[in-house]
Amino acid sequence: MAETFDVVVIGAGPTGENAGARAAAGGLKVALVEHELLGGECSYWACMPSKALLHPGETIKEPLKAEAVLKHRDKMVSGYDDKSQVKWAEGAKLTVVRGRGKLTGPRKVTVEGKDGKVRELEARRAVVIATGSKPRMPDIQGLKDSRPWDNREGTGSKAVPGRLVVLGGGVEAVELAQAWRELGSEVTLVQRGPRLLTRFEPFVGEQVAQALRDTGVRVFLETQATKVQRSGEGKGEYTVTLSNRDTLRADALLVAMGRTARTDDVGVDTVGLKPGASIEVDDQLRAKGVDGGWLYACGDVNGRNLLTHMGKYQARLVGDVILGKPAKAWADTKATPQVVFTHPQVASVGHTEEQARKAGVPVKTVQYRVIVGATFTGPGVGEMLHAATIAVAGEVPLDTLWHAVPSYPTMSEVWLRLLEAYGL
Ligand SMILES: Cc1cc2nc3c(=O)[nH]c(=O)nc-3n(C[C@H](O)[C@H](O)[C@H](O)COP(=O)(O)OP(=O)(O)OC[C@H]3O[C@@H](n4cnc5c(N)ncnc54)[C@H](O)[C@@H]3O)c2cc1C
Repeated sequence: MAETFDVVVIGAGPTGENAGARAAAGGLKVALVEHELLGGECSYWACMPSKALLHPGETIKEPLKAEAVLKHRDKMVSGYDDKSQVKWAEGAKLTVVRGRGKLTGPRKVTVEGKDGKVRELEARRAVVIATGSKPRMPDIQGLKDSRPWDNREGTGSKAVPGRLVVLGGGVEAVELAQAWRELGSEVTLVQRGPRLLTRFEPFVGEQVAQALRDTGVRVFLETQATKVQRSGEGKGEYTVTLSNRDTLRADALLVAMGRTARTDDVGVDTVGLKPGASIEVDDQLRAKGVDGGWLYACGDVNGRNLLTHMGKYQARLVGDVILGKPAKAWADTKATPQVVFTHPQVASVGHTEEQARKAGVPVKTVQYRVIVGATFTGPGVGEMLHAATIAVAGEVPLDTLWHAVPSYPTMSEVWLRLLEAYGL
């Protein structure tokens, strides 16, 4: 006999938890299915541990005591124990169902526990897929067999590697390259593109590359790894051959080259969707191409925006839509804030200049007189970002913004300089 709920959520990362909690707060009976730890990738192998490894570098000036930092990291991931999250979920009136969830048809989910027992769940109103993403393993000769680090070992290693090679030039790559360098590793970063952090304004990548080089990280741009070998039957030293014919030797190799949706084993084929691909959704986060409008997807799995806070935004919306409230997502395509927690920090929201031009927005002209994007770099700029996010999301006219007077002396006075640049 199937157990019946109003809503079944598959995946209890930050987005699954929030979608479930929002629906439950509205009075619905919700099952939250999780096969690893409640809190998801973010809490144990992504946001929390990477920030725990990096943050001390910003505040502590003397050489970092690696042991203390790793201990701090373990504390921030609660020793990889989700007791407190389970307590929170129960307090939010969610029914936690442990095991691997799989769609078996419209509104039907089976959950296989670690002991092999299978529970059948049925959703009266909606199923929400919030299964997140997994690392993309590029097709480089020998790479997969060498068993490199991904974000799990990259944030969770119990020891500081003597020599670390990082493949990639995005946020995960630069944050973890800097974190392990500060803890004493000799770090080399290999990036295929012409600069780091290519989704940000060009000056961002240049400043972060310089900051990495200043602390002793070797940065290769426009370079690819072409072959990876590992000695000792996949346990020893790495040899990484590069497209510029250099050879790197390392004790650890981190692959941070993007992520793909975790949909290969969730039964999406039973409702006509393609396993392994992101679940395409409309602005109410309903899966496109599924009849009846009962299937939703939020967070990394829909590929709209791979950030915890935007996944949680989508989750709140999904909860509201399921409750029958009018709601539509737009901030995750138009006003997305993001902080890169390197030193210097990078904080940006909305379009870069190039993206705005591509989207047909007349940049730096007087017709619009609203801010469509902003980027700051420097210590602590993440805390300044929300003012820009409000300006972008609220489409606040520059002439109104001029009357939002920043206090003296604060970093926010940078707004005066920005407005002066527009002749105000
Ligand atoms: C190194 C790193 C650092 C990052 N730092 C930041 C940051 O500072 N700020 C930020 O905003 N974002 C950051 N991100 C991105 C962030 O981690 C993701 O956007 C976020 O985790 C997405 O949340 P989610 O709930 O969609 O997925 P996840 O957090 O991946 O959670 C998905 C959950 O679903 C479960 N699951 C999967 N399949 C099944 C199944 N079949 N049955 C049951 N359960 C299942 C998984 O076990 C998991 O618990 C970082 C990412 C990385 C890799």
